[in-house]
Amino acid sequence: MTIYSGPVFEMAKRQFETVADHIEIPTDERDRLLYPKRAVAVSCPIHREDGTTAVFQGYRVQHHLTLGPTKGGTRFSATLDIGEVAALAIWMSWKCALTGLPYGGAKGGITVDPTSLSLRELEALSRRYMQELIPFVGPHTDIMAPDMGTDERVMAWFMDTYSINQGHMVSEIVTGKPVACGGTVGRKEATGRGVVHLAIRVAGELGIRPPAATAIVQGFGNVGAVSAHELALRGVRVVGVSDHTAAYYDARGLDVAALEEHMRRHRSLAGYSSEALYDPAELLVQPCDILVPAAVERVIDASVARRLRCRILAEAANGPTTPDADTVLDERGDIVTIPDILCNSGGVIVSYFEWVQDLQQLFWEEDEVQRRLERILDRAFNQVDARAKQSGLSHRMAALAIGVGKVRDAKQTRGLFP
Ligand code: NAD
Repeated sequence: MTIYSGPVFEMAKRQFETVADHIEIPTDERDRLLYPKRAVAVSCPIHREDGTTAVFQGYRVQHHLTLGPTKGGTRFSATLDIGEVAALAIWMSWKCALTGLPYGGAKGGITVDPTSLSLRELEALSRRYMQELIPFVGPHTDIMAPDMGTDERVMAWFMDTYSINQGHMVSEIVTGKPVACGGTVGRKEATGRGVVHLAIRVAGELGIRPPAATAIVQGFGNVGAVSAHELALRGVRVVGVSDHTAAYYDARGLDVAALEEHMRRHRSLAGYSSEALYDPAELLVQPCDILVPAAVERVIDASVARRLRCRILAEAANGPTTPDADTVLDERGDIVTIPDILCNSGGVIVSYFEWVQDLQQLFWEEDEVQRRLERILDRAFNQVDARAKQSGLSHRMAALAIGVGKVRDAKQTRGLFP
């Protein structure tokens, strides 16, 4: 049990222990629920452009197989380690159970900065990673998806590599693919759209109308850029945005369409504007109604939590808020948190729709995808809100209690083999 370590794994473990205490899970049942069923480490060699050979470390962690195949994203990041992958797999499990999807959680990735690779190297590494994992994945075993540092193109290479090995197209092996090769309409936008759907719903409950609301979005990748776009579409004034290269703030509102165009041209936010340039460390604590962290883990620690000036914390990223920050937010009581496993679940919900459509080879219109997405999000939100009110729990603890509780019930019902 000691192969998993690091701050992100410790955070997932601490959250689990807290919720396990709340719902009184006996100590001898806890390891079975928390620790991943399988973890695979693969080394992925590729030829570099300069003729040398380089080897990259890859991982895939499958948390539990009790409710169906495992499902989860693939992260390419320079600092990735197995503890981080395991934590993300564990959070996926609670997320899938909370939203009623027939999956266990998984996560994978490669320790690499994808921007340091040429396009050909990126393709070679993506294909080699999938090749190494073929014995461990499958449309009814473990289904991959995008996460930080990967996109639709990488998913297409994964699908193609797996399919070549099988001798026929197996589009249901990955989700988040381009629509041109078995993807679903609305998947690319799903996570951000889900975040904004829930944030606007909570704003309504607080009496905040979108045209009178302001928002700050940290991260301008798949999730952050779509969140900013959807907020602007509803009339919300986006006053701050950032990525790993730059942060911008303007109390009068930023031009989201112009930021998106800059991103398309330059692939980062650097160089967008010198007037609105801002200190990234201060961006999160500027006043706004809706704060959307959509980048990396642990950006809101206890000291940031004490200084937050938002009304709604919509956690688009996985694990943006540390357990110490949760304690501060619980004490403050003036910020409504939409916890990550609920807030960003739109991604895996529409991935589930994509898998179902691929299995049936029957494809839906975008309005059907959106309608079904909102129905699942609203049902999960209602359950979390009711549980929080009933049991006097924070939204995070209520969401985790439901997710962990469902996995535990399924394990008890199936029994322990042999
Ligand atoms: P991405 O790689 O497309 O974008 C990540 C963004 O974060 C980039 O704009 C990057 O510049 C920025 N970033 C990195 N470090 C930063 C920092 N220190 N400060 C500010 N910005 C920083 O990744 P993504 O797919 O948008 O994922 C973002 C988060 O959302 C991750 O936590 C991921 O696990 C989570 N998530 C993603 C999906 C999905 O469908 N892609 C689904 C659920 C959750």
